[in-house]
Amino acid sequence: MNKELKKTLAQTLEKEKAALEKELESFATEDKNIKGNWDAKRINTEDTDMEEKADELEEYDNLLSLEHSLELRLKDVTLAMEKMAGGKYGVCEKCGKEIEQKRLMVCPEAKLCIKCNEIK
Ligand SMILES: [Zn+2]
Repeated sequence: MNKELKKTLAQTLEKEKAALEKELESFATEDKNIKGNWDAKRINTEDTDMEEKADELEEYDNLLSLEHSLELRLKDVTLAMEKMAGGKYGVCEKCGKEIEQKRLMVCPEAKLCIKCNEIK
């Protein structure tokens, strides 16, 4: 992989990490004890009628699943950044071959090459 591309991908990862953290911070708090773990803030369900309560619980459920997918993406991004720092970036975790550049440009945190990603 050439240096220019690596630099671009590193910047993309930085930006993505910042954006993901910002999004998570808007409705969740980072767990101080477990690195990379986030908890959606509890919605105050006191003093509301049953219907509203149900709505809020549903909303909370949605937040939880959003929180979960953002957290997973953040983990992948962080992992990719660590790999980049360690010089092992862009290698497929399954077959050990280099991940295609076009794939990395769309998804810089990719852990698998196009072929392996299709098989899984
Ligand atoms: Zn592969």
